[in-house]
Amino acid sequence: MPLPIEMAGPPGSGDRRKVDRARYYWQSVDWEGLMKAYPPPGLYETTNGRMSADEMRQLQSARFIERVGDAWKLPFYRDRWTDAGLEPGDIRSLDDIEKIPPFTSDDLKLAIDRAPPFGDHQPGSPEFLANTHVRILTSGGTTGLPRVTLFDAWALEVQGIQSARAFWAQGLRPSDILQITYTNSLANAAWCTLSGAFNWIGATPMTTGSGIVTSSERQLEYAKAWGTTAWFTRAEYLARLAEVARNIGFDLHQLKTRLIISHIGPDADGTRRKRLEEAWNAPVYDNYGTHEIGAVAFECREKSGMHISEDTVYIEIADIASGAILPHGQTGNLIATSLYRSVPPIIRFNMRDLLATQPRETCGCGLCTMKLSNFRGRSDEMVKLRGTNVYPLACMEAVSRDPRANGEFICVVSNEGEGLSLREKFVVRVERNSPSVDPVALQADMETALHRDLGVRVDVEIADPGELSVHTGLGVQNKTKRLLDLRK
Ligand SMILES: [Zn+2]
Repeated sequence: MPLPIEMAGPPGSGDRRKVDRARYYWQSVDWEGLMKAYPPPGLYETTNGRMSADEMRQLQSARFIERVGDAWKLPFYRDRWTDAGLEPGDIRSLDDIEKIPPFTSDDLKLAIDRAPPFGDHQPGSPEFLANTHVRILTSGGTTGLPRVTLFDAWALEVQGIQSARAFWAQGLRPSDILQITYTNSLANAAWCTLSGAFNWIGATPMTTGSGIVTSSERQLEYAKAWGTTAWFTRAEYLARLAEVARNIGFDLHQLKTRLIISHIGPDADGTRRKRLEEAWNAPVYDNYGTHEIGAVAFECREKSGMHISEDTVYIEIADIASGAILPHGQTGNLIATSLYRSVPPIIRFNMRDLLATQPRETCGCGLCTMKLSNFRGRSDEMVKLRGTNVYPLACMEAVSRDPRANGEFICVVSNEGEGLSLREKFVVRVERNSPSVDPVALQADMETALHRDLGVRVDVEIADPGELSVHTGLGVQNKTKRLLDLRK
């Protein structure tokens, strides 16, 4: 295709020309090539979404080798891999992936300290930014600056397609009005949701943002007035909206809700999902993703594990202590290798998210992929309590099960005493549903339930509805905090 203006060099080409003319986004992506490599809904289901195991392995391996080539050009990977005794050419297929040392977000923080402001793990020179369509998005960061991930056009567009595949499998269609209660900000979730629903399905997004942008009362008002049929909302916020609806006498069942795209989290016996589905009178679907790798896994209408978008990511599950790669069914740290990202390459990123894989099978929905279990917690939030590993998110099931609690909680860990008598105190603060709930009985029952689920006794304190949101960030932040660590 002849282009009306000269295009800037491709990523990594080292093109240092000063760019003093506008660059057009539509020219930054080979759209036909993109759709062929990462088929969006309508194409995915008959192509990459139902490949044989051998075909998929071959495709993943070819993409992996290209990404390894990108990574060798960056000091972060070059130095780590050289230290591990690797040389360019040593990694010849996916069969060699375990030779590559994994990294964590701690390593990325060091990479940024070494080469501010964006780190030596991603191309980010002023020349590169001037010659490429790049966006700055961030994650994490409770202290200091949040950690920047750069996104080129290719990464953004593939992430839009990943989200669209998920939404389509969950039933989102062009006739839907999708209310997105994540804020379009430095965090990525709202952006790739918008892109997936709007660019790759043709649904009508309504970007209300989180509760700090549009209050919960207004969210409900808009949904009713403008005919929301689908929601993209965290499970915690769904529960919060249901509570607000109850308090103001708003009947959620009067809405036209057809489906809810969410992140449910730990829910082994399905109680959490069931309560939300009853409150909203609509199916709630679980998803997994991070801003670096995108929405890589999604439930379909069968709700039997999350399909992995295997042409976009290679997933391994590693034992928390030894790092050994675990077989299907065992829970451990998710290690992700992005198969589409060059800005930055993501090769064996230990997300410290706890999940398990399920073997490949043809699903009732027609897709044939490996699947992921639900999200079970974060290994870096683990607290060692009298010899037992306790994960804050493991409290969720007990809290969700009891109808006297509204589902909101936070674990507070602090130090008690000093010197030899120093011990860790772990308190689970749980919100009751209403001030009329007897706090003494709820506290005792909750302590029993948590003891059973966690395998260790913890103290419970009962809080009033809404009291904990200042700590959890519920309805304000895109993420909900479940651990308040006061030990330092
Ligand atoms: Zn399925």
